[in-house]
Formats: sequence, C-alpha cells, structure tokens
Amino acid sequence: MVWNKEFECMSPEDLQRFQLKKLNETILWLYELVPPYRKKLEEASIRSEGIKRLEQLQELPFTVKGDLMENYPFGLCALPLKDVVRVHASSGTTGKPITGPYTARDMDHWTECMARVIWAAGVREDDIFQNAFGHGLFTGGMGFHQGATRIGCTVVPTSSGMTERQILLMKDFGADALGCTPSYALTIAERAEEIGMPIKDLKLRVGLFGAEPWTNAMRSEIEERMGIKATNNYGLTELGGPGTGFECIEARDGMHINEDHFIAEIIDPLTHKVLALGETGELVLTAVQRRAMPLLRFRTKDITSLTREKCACGRTLVKMGRIVGRTDDMLIINGVNVFPSQIESLLKDIPEVEMQYLLVVRKKKHLDELSLRVEARKEVYEAGREKIAWVERKIDNHIKGIMGIHVVVELAAPKALKRSEGKAVRVIDERPK
Ligand code: AMP
Ligand code: ZN
Repeated sequence: MVWNKEFECMSPEDLQRFQLKKLNETILWLYELVPPYRKKLEEASIRSEGIKRLEQLQELPFTVKGDLMENYPFGLCALPLKDVVRVHASSGTTGKPITGPYTARDMDHWTECMARVIWAAGVREDDIFQNAFGHGLFTGGMGFHQGATRIGCTVVPTSSGMTERQILLMKDFGADALGCTPSYALTIAERAEEIGMPIKDLKLRVGLFGAEPWTNAMRSEIEERMGIKATNNYGLTELGGPGTGFECIEARDGMHINEDHFIAEIIDPLTHKVLALGETGELVLTAVQRRAMPLLRFRTKDITSLTREKCACGRTLVKMGRIVGRTDDMLIINGVNVFPSQIESLLKDIPEVEMQYLLVVRKKKHLDELSLRVEARKEVYEAGREKIAWVERKIDNHIKGIMGIHVVVELAAPKALKRSEGKAVRVIDERPK
C-alpha cells in the first residue's frame, strides 16, 4: 500500500493540530533563514513562535508571484544550494522564470505526495505507466516519474511529443495508465484514430491529466475517445509541482488536497477576505512541510472553491473544484467577464466542431472584438461554404444566448490549428496593454 491512510483519512481535529504544529515550524524556519519573510512577518506582527490557533492563519502575510520575481533566483530559498538537490522552473509573468528548489527531504515528500496521487487513480505496482508529461524543468514529468516509481509501476518516460511513437509504444508495451496534459491527450486520441489504431482498442484504462485548465466536457470527450477513466490533477511550481490536488478514481468530482503538506484557503481576490467552504474565489496555499522554499499563503490566482464532504474513497481530505479561470487570464470583453473554459463548455454542444480552438482578442476602434477559430469536423467542412456559415452563426448565437457576448466565429479546416504537446495555448490577447 502506498497511500498514507493515517494522513489521507485523518479526523479534522487531528489534522488541524498537525497543520498548526507544522505551520509554526515553518514560520520559525522562515523567520530565521529567509530575511524577506522575516520582514514580512514582522510587518504583520507575527512573532517567531508563530500562531496559537489555526484560524489566525488569516493574519499571516500573503506571498505573490512578484515576491518570487523580486527575489529571483534564490532569494526566498531558506538554505544554501549545497543543501538543494534539484531546481525546477516555470515561466514567470515577466522575462524571468519562477524557481522551485528542493532539499532531499522535500524530494522525498514530493515523491510520497505523487505516489498518493497516482495510487488514488487506481494505478498499482503491476501497471505500466506511460508518462507523457514534459520531462525537464517543468515539474510534471519528474513528479509523475518519481511517484509512479515509488508505487513500483513499470514507468515508460516518453515525455511529450512524437505522438505516433507514443501510440506505438502504448500499444506494444501495453500501457495501463497515461499521464499528460488533457490537450495532449486529445492530440494523441486524434492521431491514433488517424493511423487506424484508436486508443479505445488498446489496453489503456486510466489517464491522469492536469497542468492546464480543462472542462468536464473535455473530460467526457477524452474518456469516450480513449475508452478510459480520466482524473484531474493540480499543482504548481511554486508549491513544488504536481502533488497538491488529485482526484480519486471512485468519485472523480474534485481534487483532494494533501492537507498534511498544504493548507488551502479561498479568498476574495479584491477584498482578500477568506471565504467559506463552497464559495468561489482565489486559491491560496501554504506549504507547511517544505524546507528549501516554503511559501506562506501563496496567492495562486487560480479560481476555484473548496468542499469538505465524506468521499466515496474514504479520504477525509478537503476537495478543490475544477479551476474555472485565473484572476489574471480572465478576459474582460467589453465589460463582460469571460473565461475561456466557459466557451469550451459551450462548444461541446455543437456537434459540427472539434474541441480544437483558439480565442483571439483584438481592439476594433474602441471596442474589444473576440474571435474564435474552431476546427470543423471533416464532413461539415466538405459540405461547403453555406453549411460552414450556418455553423458559424449557430455557434455565435449559442454563445450570445448564454454569455451575452458576440463572437466572430471562423470555422477552420480540419487539422488547421496547431496541436498541443504540453500546455495548450487557447487565448491570444492582441489588445494594446
Ligand atoms: P506551472 O507552475 O507551470 O506548473 O503552472 C501552474 C499553473 O497551471 C497553476 O497555477 C494553474 O493555473 C495551472 N494548472 C495546473 N494544474 C491544473 C489543473 N488540473 N486544472 C487547471 N489548471 C491547472
Ligand atoms: Zn475521494
């Protein structure tokens, strides 16, 4: 057994006690070893002994991406690099990347969290795990590699790309589980159909997807086309990569958070007020067991909600919902808030198109114009101009009816849009900043 029943099924009281203890250890650690945090904590009148009750978490200062940029590359790292055994990185909002350093102990914890993630998806030691997350600086590849290795799976580290080879290896080696971004899963499914080797005819049973926003509509499409069950998994470089949130195969309706390592809060992104369970807002995460770069109340900018209910799998860990948008990629089109994921869900209602699309926002005179390029299904495209125009109008009307905005729809030829091998680019905002 690789899952950690003691922590994954802990009573709320025991969990809170444990979290408070670990949080206070982290506060002391930061106080003594990370000068920018010491300053932040002193400004918030938090002393090195920490807090008395977990509810006082709200009194701790936030950490934002800007703090990481300012202290690039290792200014928030608590230890010298001789104690750091790995550094991952992700793109920042400016030219400089976000760094994620780990001690050997951090690596061990990360591996345990990832083993829990993969175990929760029903993957066991006799399974073959094809890992098509990008291997390298991105945390996805290595994180899943370590977790699957700890379970004792046969790991096939294909990394992303070379799609036909992925499919051939999947067939020849008999992969039971696949890990990759959901957009890449669709790319694989589509290519497999094209070369006459549909994934649903292969042995594959389960997919562990994540690292980018996707919808339930897309989940159904992947599950249908691949003949598998798909779980959603969440993480970010700042908190050590994947291993923060994961779905269990039993429920697949929200991601359990490894709460012995991460304390989750939801805040109103404008007032910073902490919201109640069930309310939607910005996810804030505190790492309570990391040593190289623990972050306090990191504002993820990811929008979701938390629920704490009895889960079919037996875990008591809180669940986060699907990420419905980001506070920073939320598009505001002529005053209307638009999340790309909303449009994706609506496209699922249009049988004439594929789930391959790109949104482009431009300024036209003083107004914003949102255009949507979406791929037509082959028979629709071949039916000619009139049919295409009809489908374009149908999509515009559907989106207008539900979201109240007009979209310039352009049906593209099948396979016209660039396929994703990692995180899909779904939005291009060309408006002057
Ligand atoms: P990175 O640090 O490059 O791995 O990017 C982390 C970001 O990817 C998160 O803050 C989210 O915005 C996004 N992300 C990761 N996992 C998911 C997921 N399962 N669903 C939606 N977005 C995700
Ligand atoms: Zn569960």
